[in-house]
Amino acid sequence: DPMVDAHAQPDEAAAEAALRPHTLAEFRGQPRVAEQLGLVLAAARNRAHVPDHVLLSGPPGLGKTTLAGIIANELGVPLRISSGPAIQHAGDLAAILSGLAEGEVFFLDEIHRMSRAAEEMLYLAMEDFRVDVIVGKGPGATAIPLQIPRFTMVGATTRAGLLPGPLRDRFGFTAQLDFYAPEALTEIVVTSARRLGVGLDPDAAAEIAGRSRGTPRIANRLLRRVRDYAAVKADGHITRELARAALKLYEVDERGLDRLDRRVLESLCTRFGGGPVGLSTLAISVGEEAETVEEVAEPFLVREGFLMRTPRGRAATPAGWAHLGLTPPSASPS
Ligand code: ADP
Repeated sequence: DPMVDAHAQPDEAAAEAALRPHTLAEFRGQPRVAEQLGLVLAAARNRAHVPDHVLLSGPPGLGKTTLAGIIANELGVPLRISSGPAIQHAGDLAAILSGLAEGEVFFLDEIHRMSRAAEEMLYLAMEDFRVDVIVGKGPGATAIPLQIPRFTMVGATTRAGLLPGPLRDRFGFTAQLDFYAPEALTEIVVTSARRLGVGLDPDAAAEIAGRSRGTPRIANRLLRRVRDYAAVKADGHITRELARAALKLYEVDERGLDRLDRRVLESLCTRFGGGPVGLSTLAISVGEEAETVEEVAEPFLVREGFLMRTPRGRAATPAGWAHLGLTPPSASPS
Protein backbone atom coordinates (compact mmCIF):
# COMPACT_ATOMS: atom_id res chain seq x y z
CA ASP A 1 0.00 0.00 0.00
CA PRO A 2 1.75 3.16 -1.18
CA MET A 3 -0.18 5.61 1.06
CA VAL A 4 2.17 5.37 4.03
CA ASP A 5 5.28 4.14 2.22
CA ALA A 6 8.04 6.66 2.91
CA HIS A 7 9.75 5.96 -0.44
CA ALA A 8 8.82 8.28 -3.30
CA GLN A 9 6.23 6.84 -5.67
CA PRO A 10 7.22 6.85 -9.34
CA ASP A 11 4.44 9.26 -10.32
CA GLU A 12 4.79 11.84 -7.58
CA ALA A 13 8.05 13.60 -8.47
CA ALA A 14 6.34 16.67 -9.92
CA ALA A 15 3.85 16.90 -7.04
CA GLU A 16 6.77 16.71 -4.57
CA ALA A 17 8.86 19.27 -6.38
CA ALA A 18 5.97 21.75 -6.15
CA LEU A 19 5.95 21.40 -2.36
CA ARG A 20 9.69 21.67 -1.71
CA PRO A 21 10.93 24.58 0.40
CA HIS A 22 13.79 26.46 -1.32
CA THR A 23 15.46 28.25 1.59
CA LEU A 24 16.63 27.21 5.04
CA ALA A 25 14.18 29.72 6.51
CA GLU A 26 11.29 27.83 4.93
CA PHE A 27 12.60 24.44 6.06
CA ARG A 28 10.58 23.22 9.07
CA GLY A 29 11.69 20.83 11.79
CA GLN A 30 15.19 19.39 12.31
CA PRO A 31 16.19 22.59 14.18
CA ARG A 32 19.68 21.39 15.08
CA VAL A 33 20.53 20.27 11.55
CA ALA A 34 19.12 23.48 10.06
CA GLU A 35 21.14 25.66 12.43
CA GLN A 36 24.40 23.77 11.87
CA LEU A 37 23.92 23.77 8.12
CA GLY A 38 23.15 27.50 8.23
CA LEU A 39 26.55 28.04 9.87
CA VAL A 40 28.38 25.91 7.32
CA LEU A 41 26.81 27.91 4.49
CA ALA A 42 27.35 31.30 6.11
CA ALA A 43 31.02 30.51 6.76
CA ALA A 44 31.52 29.40 3.17
CA ARG A 45 29.87 32.57 1.88
CA ASN A 46 32.05 34.76 4.11
CA ARG A 47 35.21 33.08 2.88
CA ALA A 48 33.90 33.05 -0.71
CA HIS A 49 34.83 29.39 -0.74
CA VAL A 50 32.98 26.16 -1.59
CA PRO A 51 31.60 24.69 1.65
CA ASP A 52 32.66 21.36 3.14
CA HIS A 53 31.11 18.23 1.72
CA VAL A 54 27.86 17.33 3.50
CA LEU A 55 26.60 13.86 4.43
CA LEU A 56 22.89 13.53 5.22
CA SER A 57 21.66 10.30 6.75
CA GLY A 58 18.20 9.19 7.75
CA PRO A 59 15.14 7.26 6.60
CA PRO A 60 13.46 8.11 3.28
CA GLY A 61 11.10 11.07 3.00
CA LEU A 62 12.67 13.23 5.72
CA GLY A 63 14.12 15.93 3.47
CA LYS A 64 17.58 14.89 2.24
CA THR A 65 16.93 15.82 -1.40
CA THR A 66 15.16 18.96 -0.22
CA LEU A 67 18.21 20.02 1.82
CA ALA A 68 20.53 19.44 -1.14
CA GLY A 69 18.33 21.77 -3.19
CA ILE A 70 18.35 24.34 -0.39
CA ILE A 71 22.15 24.22 -0.14
CA ALA A 72 22.50 24.90 -3.89
CA ASN A 73 19.87 27.61 -3.78
CA GLU A 74 21.42 29.36 -0.75
CA LEU A 75 24.81 29.30 -2.47
CA GLY A 76 23.34 30.44 -5.78
CA VAL A 77 24.85 27.51 -7.69
CA PRO A 78 23.31 24.76 -9.84
CA LEU A 79 22.36 21.36 -8.45
CA ARG A 80 23.28 18.09 -10.12
CA ILE A 81 21.40 14.98 -8.94
CA SER A 82 22.37 11.34 -9.30
CA SER A 83 22.15 8.18 -7.22
CA GLY A 84 24.47 5.37 -6.19
CA PRO A 85 22.75 2.62 -8.19
CA ALA A 86 23.02 4.76 -11.35
CA ILE A 87 26.82 4.84 -11.01
CA GLN A 88 28.04 1.35 -11.79
CA HIS A 89 31.30 2.24 -13.53
CA ALA A 90 33.95 4.73 -12.54
CA GLY A 91 33.52 6.23 -16.00
CA ASP A 92 29.89 7.18 -15.17
CA LEU A 93 31.17 9.20 -12.24
CA ALA A 94 34.07 10.73 -14.19
CA ALA A 95 31.59 11.98 -16.80
CA ILE A 96 29.43 13.67 -14.17
CA LEU A 97 32.32 15.19 -12.23
CA SER A 98 34.12 16.59 -15.24
CA GLY A 99 30.86 18.15 -16.44
CA LEU A 100 30.16 20.05 -13.20
CA ALA A 101 30.19 23.84 -13.15
CA GLU A 102 32.52 25.61 -10.73
CA GLY A 103 31.02 25.49 -7.22
CA GLU A 104 28.14 23.23 -8.24
CA VAL A 105 26.38 21.06 -5.66
CA PHE A 106 26.49 17.38 -6.56
CA PHE A 107 23.76 15.42 -4.76
CA LEU A 108 24.33 11.68 -4.71
CA ASP A 109 21.41 9.77 -3.23
CA GLU A 110 21.91 6.22 -1.88
CA ILE A 111 25.62 6.84 -1.90
CA HIS A 112 26.22 3.49 -0.14
CA ARG A 113 25.06 1.66 -3.29
CA MET A 114 27.78 3.03 -5.58
CA SER A 115 30.28 0.55 -7.04
CA ARG A 116 33.68 0.14 -5.36
CA ALA A 117 35.61 1.50 -8.33
CA ALA A 118 33.47 4.63 -8.42
CA GLU A 119 33.89 5.02 -4.68
CA GLU A 120 37.68 5.18 -4.98
CA MET A 121 37.40 7.77 -7.70
CA LEU A 122 35.09 9.81 -5.49
CA TYR A 123 37.67 9.85 -2.64
CA LEU A 124 40.18 11.60 -4.83
CA ALA A 125 37.60 13.93 -6.35
CA MET A 126 36.31 15.05 -2.95
CA GLU A 127 39.79 15.57 -1.57
CA ASP A 128 41.80 16.99 -4.43
CA PHE A 129 39.18 17.90 -7.04
CA ARG A 130 40.89 15.55 -9.40
CA VAL A 131 40.01 12.27 -11.12
CA ASP A 132 42.39 9.74 -12.62
CA VAL A 133 41.14 8.64 -15.99
CA ILE A 134 42.51 5.21 -16.91
CA VAL A 135 43.49 4.95 -20.53
CA GLY A 136 44.23 1.56 -22.10
CA LYS A 137 44.06 -1.93 -20.62
CA GLY A 138 46.35 -4.37 -18.85
CA PRO A 139 50.02 -3.59 -18.18
CA GLY A 140 50.01 -0.69 -20.64
CA ALA A 141 47.18 1.17 -18.88
CA THR A 142 48.03 4.65 -17.69
CA ALA A 143 46.24 6.98 -15.30
CA ILE A 144 45.82 10.48 -16.64
CA PRO A 145 45.05 12.99 -13.89
CA LEU A 146 42.26 15.37 -14.80
CA GLN A 147 41.51 18.51 -12.80
CA ILE A 148 37.79 18.97 -12.13
CA PRO A 149 35.89 22.05 -10.90
CA ARG A 150 35.64 22.61 -7.15
CA PHE A 151 32.25 21.30 -6.09
CA THR A 152 30.27 20.52 -2.95
CA MET A 153 29.37 16.91 -2.51
CA VAL A 154 26.08 16.25 -0.74
CA GLY A 155 25.76 12.53 -0.07
CA ALA A 156 22.60 10.88 1.21
CA THR A 157 22.21 7.48 2.81
CA THR A 158 19.60 5.76 4.89
CA ARG A 159 22.27 4.72 7.38
CA ALA A 160 25.68 6.36 7.77
CA GLY A 161 26.91 3.06 9.20
CA LEU A 162 26.61 1.49 5.75
CA LEU A 163 29.36 3.75 4.40
CA PRO A 164 32.99 2.67 4.42
CA GLY A 165 35.01 4.68 6.95
CA PRO A 166 37.28 6.36 4.37
CA LEU A 167 34.25 7.73 2.50
CA ARG A 168 32.53 8.93 5.67
CA ASP A 169 35.74 10.69 6.73
CA ARG A 170 35.76 12.84 3.61
CA PHE A 171 32.61 14.68 4.64
CA GLY A 172 33.30 17.78 6.69
CA PHE A 173 29.75 17.98 7.95
CA THR A 174 27.49 15.06 8.80
CA ALA A 175 23.85 15.39 9.78
CA GLN A 176 21.46 12.74 10.98
CA LEU A 177 17.81 13.49 10.16
CA ASP A 178 15.20 12.26 12.62
CA PHE A 179 11.46 11.70 12.36
CA TYR A 180 9.59 15.00 12.70
CA ALA A 181 7.75 16.20 15.79
CA PRO A 182 3.97 16.55 15.30
CA GLU A 183 4.12 20.37 15.55
CA ALA A 184 6.69 20.64 12.73
CA LEU A 185 4.71 18.22 10.57
CA THR A 186 1.55 20.22 11.19
CA GLU A 187 3.34 23.38 10.02
CA ILE A 188 4.51 21.55 6.90
CA VAL A 189 0.94 20.47 6.13
CA VAL A 190 -0.30 24.06 6.59
CA THR A 191 2.42 25.43 4.29
CA SER A 192 1.80 22.74 1.67
CA ALA A 193 -1.95 23.45 1.69
CA ARG A 194 -1.20 27.11 1.07
CA ARG A 195 1.08 26.17 -1.84
CA LEU A 196 -1.66 23.92 -3.25
CA GLY A 197 -4.20 26.70 -2.84
CA VAL A 198 -6.57 24.71 -0.65
CA GLY A 199 -8.33 25.89 2.49
CA LEU A 200 -7.49 23.80 5.55
CA ASP A 201 -8.60 24.14 9.18
CA PRO A 202 -5.75 24.04 11.75
CA ASP A 203 -7.16 20.95 13.47
CA ALA A 204 -7.40 19.22 10.10
CA ALA A 205 -3.68 19.90 9.58
CA ALA A 206 -2.93 18.32 12.96
CA GLU A 207 -5.11 15.33 12.07
CA ILE A 208 -3.19 14.70 8.84
CA ALA A 209 0.19 15.28 10.53
CA GLY A 210 -0.68 12.80 13.30
CA ARG A 211 -1.15 10.04 10.73
CA SER A 212 2.03 10.75 8.77
CA ARG A 213 4.54 8.63 10.70
CA GLY A 214 6.79 11.59 11.40
CA THR A 215 7.57 11.83 7.68
CA PRO A 216 7.00 14.96 5.52
CA ARG A 217 6.72 12.92 2.31
CA ILE A 218 3.80 10.96 3.79
CA ALA A 219 2.22 14.14 5.21
CA ASN A 220 2.27 15.79 1.78
CA ARG A 221 0.90 12.66 0.12
CA LEU A 222 -1.97 12.31 2.61
CA LEU A 223 -2.74 16.01 2.17
CA ARG A 224 -2.99 15.59 -1.61
CA ARG A 225 -5.34 12.62 -1.23
CA VAL A 226 -7.50 14.48 1.30
CA ARG A 227 -7.59 17.47 -1.05
CA ASP A 228 -8.91 15.20 -3.84
CA TYR A 229 -11.56 13.83 -1.53
CA ALA A 230 -12.59 17.33 -0.43
CA ALA A 231 -12.88 18.48 -4.03
CA VAL A 232 -15.13 15.57 -5.01
CA LYS A 233 -17.20 15.09 -1.86
CA ALA A 234 -17.44 18.67 -0.59
CA ASP A 235 -16.61 22.24 -1.59
CA GLY A 236 -12.83 21.69 -1.47
CA HIS A 237 -12.25 23.12 2.00
CA ILE A 238 -10.62 20.63 4.38
CA THR A 239 -12.18 20.36 7.83
CA ARG A 240 -11.06 17.89 10.47
CA GLU A 241 -14.16 15.79 9.96
CA LEU A 242 -13.55 15.64 6.24
CA ALA A 243 -9.87 14.70 6.73
CA ARG A 244 -10.97 11.87 9.03
CA ALA A 245 -13.53 10.57 6.55
CA ALA A 246 -11.01 10.70 3.70
CA LEU A 247 -8.29 8.91 5.65
CA LYS A 248 -10.78 6.28 6.77
CA LEU A 249 -11.50 5.62 3.11
CA TYR A 250 -7.77 5.34 2.40
CA GLU A 251 -7.43 3.02 5.44
CA VAL A 252 -4.85 5.09 7.29
CA ASP A 253 -5.77 5.08 10.98
CA GLU A 254 -5.28 7.72 13.73
CA ARG A 255 -1.70 6.66 14.40
CA GLY A 256 -0.74 6.19 10.76
CA LEU A 257 -1.14 2.41 10.55
CA ASP A 258 -2.37 1.14 7.21
CA ARG A 259 -4.33 -2.00 6.41
CA LEU A 260 -1.33 -4.34 6.46
CA ASP A 261 -0.03 -2.94 9.78
CA ARG A 262 -3.45 -3.42 11.36
CA ARG A 263 -3.91 -6.91 9.96
CA VAL A 264 -0.55 -8.00 11.36
CA LEU A 265 -1.30 -6.53 14.79
CA GLU A 266 -4.85 -7.90 14.81
CA SER A 267 -3.77 -11.38 13.81
CA LEU A 268 -1.07 -11.35 16.48
CA CYS A 269 -3.61 -10.42 19.16
CA THR A 270 -6.72 -12.32 18.12
CA ARG A 271 -5.25 -15.52 16.67
CA PHE A 272 -2.11 -15.95 18.73
CA GLY A 273 -3.17 -14.42 22.05
CA GLY A 274 -0.63 -11.62 21.57
CA GLY A 275 2.27 -14.00 20.88
CA PRO A 276 5.09 -14.69 20.96
CA VAL A 277 4.69 -16.26 17.55
CA GLY A 278 7.23 -16.91 14.81
CA LEU A 279 7.50 -14.47 11.92
CA SER A 280 6.64 -17.03 9.24
CA THR A 281 3.51 -18.22 11.09
CA LEU A 282 2.39 -14.62 11.55
CA ALA A 283 3.03 -13.89 7.87
CA ILE A 284 1.03 -16.92 6.71
CA SER A 285 -1.88 -15.91 8.93
CA VAL A 286 -2.18 -12.60 7.06
CA GLY A 287 -1.43 -14.12 3.66
CA GLU A 288 1.82 -12.20 3.09
CA GLU A 289 5.45 -13.06 2.53
CA ALA A 290 7.60 -13.07 5.68
CA GLU A 291 9.82 -10.36 4.15
CA THR A 292 6.82 -8.08 3.56
CA VAL A 293 5.75 -8.38 7.17
CA GLU A 294 9.29 -7.95 8.45
CA GLU A 295 10.36 -5.05 6.23
CA VAL A 296 7.11 -3.19 5.51
CA ALA A 297 4.84 -3.57 8.54
CA GLU A 298 7.07 -4.37 11.49
CA PRO A 299 9.47 -1.44 11.63
CA PHE A 300 6.69 1.06 12.20
CA LEU A 301 4.80 -1.20 14.64
CA VAL A 302 8.03 -1.58 16.63
CA ARG A 303 8.73 2.16 16.47
CA GLU A 304 5.26 2.92 17.79
CA GLY A 305 5.75 0.43 20.62
CA PHE A 306 2.90 -1.81 19.43
CA LEU A 307 4.98 -4.89 18.69
CA MET A 308 8.16 -6.44 20.10
CA ARG A 309 10.66 -8.73 18.47
CA THR A 310 11.63 -11.29 21.10
CA PRO A 311 13.92 -14.34 20.85
CA ARG A 312 10.78 -16.52 20.87
CA GLY A 313 8.97 -14.56 18.17
CA ARG A 314 6.76 -11.53 17.74
CA ALA A 315 4.67 -10.27 20.65
CA ALA A 316 2.05 -7.54 21.03
CA THR A 317 2.70 -4.90 23.70
CA PRO A 318 -0.03 -3.53 26.00
CA ALA A 319 -0.05 -0.41 23.78
CA GLY A 320 -0.61 -2.64 20.74
CA TRP A 321 -3.63 -4.27 22.39
CA ALA A 322 -4.94 -0.89 23.47
CA HIS A 323 -4.59 0.55 19.97
CA LEU A 324 -6.95 -2.12 18.66
CA GLY A 325 -9.36 -1.49 21.54
CA LEU A 326 -8.73 -5.00 22.86
CA THR A 327 -7.85 -6.29 26.31
CA PRO A 328 -4.87 -8.64 26.71
CA PRO A 329 -5.95 -12.07 28.11
CA SER A 330 -3.91 -11.80 31.33
CA ALA A 331 -5.44 -8.43 32.11
CA SER A 332 -9.03 -9.52 31.55
CA PRO A 333 -11.29 -9.31 34.61
CA SER A 334 -11.91 -12.68 36.29
P1 ADP B 1 14.39 12.31 1.05
O1 ADP B 1 15.35 12.83 0.00
O2 ADP B 1 14.98 12.31 2.42
O3 ADP B 1 13.78 10.99 0.69
P2 ADP B 1 12.79 14.59 0.20
O4 ADP B 1 13.74 15.70 0.41
O5 ADP B 1 12.57 14.14 -1.21
O6 ADP B 1 13.16 13.35 1.13
O7 ADP B 1 11.39 15.04 0.83
C1 ADP B 1 10.18 14.41 0.51
C2 ADP B 1 9.05 15.43 0.46
O8 ADP B 1 8.84 15.97 1.76
C3 ADP B 1 9.31 16.61 -0.47
O9 ADP B 1 8.16 16.86 -1.24
C4 ADP B 1 9.57 17.78 0.42
O10 ADP B 1 8.93 18.92 -0.07
C5 ADP B 1 8.93 17.39 1.73
N1 ADP B 1 9.77 17.83 2.86
C6 ADP B 1 10.81 17.16 3.39
N2 ADP B 1 11.34 17.84 4.42
C7 ADP B 1 10.64 18.98 4.54
C8 ADP B 1 10.71 20.09 5.44
N3 ADP B 1 11.60 20.13 6.43
N4 ADP B 1 9.84 21.10 5.26
C9 ADP B 1 8.92 21.03 4.28
N5 ADP B 1 8.80 20.01 3.42
C10 ADP B 1 9.64 18.98 3.54
